Amino acid sequence: MNNVNNNDSLHRVVIVGGGAGGLELATLLGKSLGKRNKASITLVDAQRTHFWKPLLHEVAAGALNAFEDELCYLAQAKWNHFHFLPGRMTNLDRDSKTIELAPICDDYGNEVVTSRTLEYDTLVISVGSTANDFDTPGAPENCLFLDNREQAERIHTTLINHYLHAQASGNHQSELNIAIIGAGATGVELAAELHNAAIELAHYGLDAISPKNVKITLIEGAPKILPALPGRISSSVHKQLEKLGVTIMTEQLVSEIHSDSLVTRSKTVVKADLSIWAAGIKAPVFLGKLPLESNRINQLVVRPTLQTTQDDHIYAFGDCSSCTLTLKNGKSITIPPRAQAAHQQASLLAKSLKKVVAGNKPMNFTYKDYGSLISLSRFSAVGNLMGAVTGDMMVEGALAKLFYISLYRMHQTTLFGKVRTGALMLKDVLSKTTRPHLKLH
Ligand SMILES: Cc1cc2nc3c(=O)[nH]c(=O)nc-3n(C[C@H](O)[C@H](O)[C@H](O)COP(=O)(O)OP(=O)(O)OC[C@H]3O[C@@H](n4cnc5c(N)ncnc54)[C@H](O)[C@@H]3O)c2cc1C
Repeated sequence: MNNVNNNDSLHRVVIVGGGAGGLELATLLGKSLGKRNKASITLVDAQRTHFWKPLLHEVAAGALNAFEDELCYLAQAKWNHFHFLPGRMTNLDRDSKTIELAPICDDYGNEVVTSRTLEYDTLVISVGSTANDFDTPGAPENCLFLDNREQAERIHTTLINHYLHAQASGNHQSELNIAIIGAGATGVELAAELHNAAIELAHYGLDAISPKNVKITLIEGAPKILPALPGRISSSVHKQLEKLGVTIMTEQLVSEIHSDSLVTRSKTVVKADLSIWAAGIKAPVFLGKLPLESNRINQLVVRPTLQTTQDDHIYAFGDCSSCTLTLKNGKSITIPPRAQAAHQQASLLAKSLKKVVAGNKPMNFTYKDYGSLISLSRFSAVGNLMGAVTGDMMVEGALAKLFYISLYRMHQTTLFGKVRTGALMLKDVLSKTTRPHLKLH
């Protein structure tokens, strides 16, 4: 196994996982410590490009072309004074302070890069999460998932293939049954995007499946959709989805999935040409096997400083961590697995690790819930804003959509700065005038 030497005369900060949180942290630390040669910052990611995960449902439906929004890690590293190392972390040796990276193979299984070890002084783990299929029989073989760009593109290609097949058959009464398992934010937003895609595909001439024959069923185990959000948001979204023709089933746990249907515990059978799993999350399995405290969904348990409970030199944040904070009123909250939380934790760590590198103590994380926003494609957006001025205010329509989009623009601003984010916004507006509303291939 090769040892990848990163500059060992400086304090070595290694960040594993360049997602919503990790890439922001690497960029912020690169621009401060890396640029001034105060520490060596290395980002490791299993992928070569970054794509902001909350946009995946738009890629799945074809509303967004992922290639236009992906960011090359090598370029971002060069521009922001950090190193990028492609590789998938598989193990950790706390005594020698090294992590192990799996070999990199090409599409035919040939080894391109051998397995490596990488030394750190401070390690930050931000490897995110994937959907949790709770070992439901048939799920791995018969469901599509929405955890990364490849999976989102697979959903889109499968959707288009159904349309091409129907078109070639000449049957203009063809039906397409789509079942989405899980009515959290991901499932709900995906349902609305797929409904929009059905309208757009017919508009562009793939009209053998008419929009009214695309039957979308959203299945949720809890008594209401969006179970983590306030009731008024959930019921407003419920009504709007029903208006779009989405069938909603609550208090239904899926127990089996077949290639053309799924079955719930109450023995209800739902026809499904396309089953998409969007319920629950779990952290990558390898985390649960590391010599660190983890919970039943493999998340690393961290203290308010975001340090793991058993090792002061190892931090974890974002979806792959479990962080419980005690509030001033004595109540405790567990930080939710959301981009908003990963963003706030990255900002805290960017300040805190500067102190650590200078030999001081890390800072404590405090979480500010700014509310939740749900986008229903081009039809609407619903949510609540929470702040000192607004209190807990429900928002709908264009205003809600504006705040929804601002979360991505905040991510871009952290990565590119205000001027380049402005240029990207302009590019997005202009490119809309030169391409179809939906990716059709
Ligand atoms: C469809 C969808 C819609 C969503 N919408 C919203 C929303 O509207 N608002 C919101 O707040 N949240 C939303 N979320 C949740 C949000 O995307 C996550 O909370 C957020 O991305 C978590 O950030 P993270 O940095 O922890 O992990 P991620 O962004 O998932 O990044 C993890 C990174 O780690 C890398 N990685 C994984 N394993 C390894 C390994 N072993 N070695 C090296 N690298 C590894 C991955 O390649 C990835 O780059 C949505 C999620 C989905 C799937």
